[in-house]
Amino acid sequence: MRLSRAFLPTLKETPAEAQIVSHRLMLRAGLVRQTSAGIYAWLPLGWRVLQNVARIVREEQDRAGAHEVLMPTIQSAELWRQSGRYDGYGKEMLRIIDRHDREMLYGPTNEEMITDIFKTYAKSYRDLPRNLYHIQWKFRDEVRPRFGVMRGREFLMKDAYSFDLTAEGAQHSYRQMFFAYLRTFQRLGLKAVPMRADTGPIGGNLSHEFIVLAETGESGVFYDSRFEASDWASTVTDYDDVAGLKQAFDDVTSVYAATDEMHDAAAFDALAPESRREGRGIEVGHIFYFGTKYSAAMGLEVPGPDGRKVAPEMGSYGIGVSRLVGALIEANHDDAGIIWPDAVAPYRAAILNLKQGDAACDAMCDQLHAALGDDSIYDDRSERAGVKFADADLMGFPWQAIIGPRGAAAGKVELKRRATGERDELTVEEALVRIRT
Ligand code: ATP
Ligand code: MG
Repeated sequence: MRLSRAFLPTLKETPAEAQIVSHRLMLRAGLVRQTSAGIYAWLPLGWRVLQNVARIVREEQDRAGAHEVLMPTIQSAELWRQSGRYDGYGKEMLRIIDRHDREMLYGPTNEEMITDIFKTYAKSYRDLPRNLYHIQWKFRDEVRPRFGVMRGREFLMKDAYSFDLTAEGAQHSYRQMFFAYLRTFQRLGLKAVPMRADTGPIGGNLSHEFIVLAETGESGVFYDSRFEASDWASTVTDYDDVAGLKQAFDDVTSVYAATDEMHDAAAFDALAPESRREGRGIEVGHIFYFGTKYSAAMGLEVPGPDGRKVAPEMGSYGIGVSRLVGALIEANHDDAGIIWPDAVAPYRAAILNLKQGDAACDAMCDQLHAALGDDSIYDDRSERAGVKFADADLMGFPWQAIIGPRGAAAGKVELKRRATGERDELTVEEALVRIRT
């Protein structure tokens, strides 16, 4: 993409309303534009990142055996009356009346709808276990939307729902998602700690929140320092290995980590003092096992092996896909701007032409741009070098291929790694190899 033709608007001034760095950078680098309180339009750069995050989330859900669907954002109040949650959900739910005076709502979550859909098709215990997910916009009329996409009113969530014949089966499904989450966050380059959590309004008896450590986070957290060093995501390779998965799960969850709501001061104090960690974090995922709460309330039951009807044991599993974009920036930035991890970068490289119109510079930039294609953004504007450097740093592309008249005459590109600031003089071929690996 040529920058001169792209829609990549940046802001010079730091927006006054943005209290945390990720929000400031998302506005300044032109990732999003607020359209109402807690509601954002995603501009090209932000949209590319959001899609990259969603792709990684999707790949790991699929790997763990879940099936993707797409449910609508608008739901009927009737479904929520069946589960008994319509009145209880309160003001966070955006309620809508259609032209026939039917009560509708913009979905804050989808337990009711998925249970209703699954009920239509599940004929016997042979249709279990199943795990269905979608990546869809949600609306929650938060009292205090803030921090940009971190706590929006409309936000993108991946939510999965598992159905099992037995409680043991449901716990296995829960553990599959638990490790799928660890893998997802690891691929995103984030250290997300699974913490024992309260089951809240969804109800139930087993729940973990996945928390990215950050001073600006809304959750208070207490955890064992072993979470800083260990790589639990890689301990699971076979999602069908029931015993292996349980062992791996027990190993991780035996290490202390809890949000303030579930904090057990005595257990925490019993740790060796050097390993105690206390801080703040951003909740990027939340998983629940809640048994037959929705299946029983909504009449989902199937004949078991002995012919007797059983209500499937369920769990639900959320990831804040749009919140993750904010969390990624909180974890990866410096004074100059965003530093995208390679896995989610909107473009792998920026090609900076320091002398537009110089035949050698133009030729070398064209060559790089043709070779990198859609993975690169070519800054071909007639702007000063300083402006190009500042914008590339702000937008955070992992690589900058800098082409000036002296280098171009000698057949050399200066390749800068955004994260470390390291620079190397390379031939075009060498630079391409580096950028692609
Ligand atoms: P929170 O405690 O932050 O309000 P929650 O517990 O209500 O979140 P869940 O119902 O567990 O959220 O939703 C799953 C995930 O969706 C959360 O882990 C979070 O990453 C994301 N999420 C929830 N609310 C918002 C929001 N208002 N804006 C952006 N993302 C959100
Ligand atoms: Mg939560």
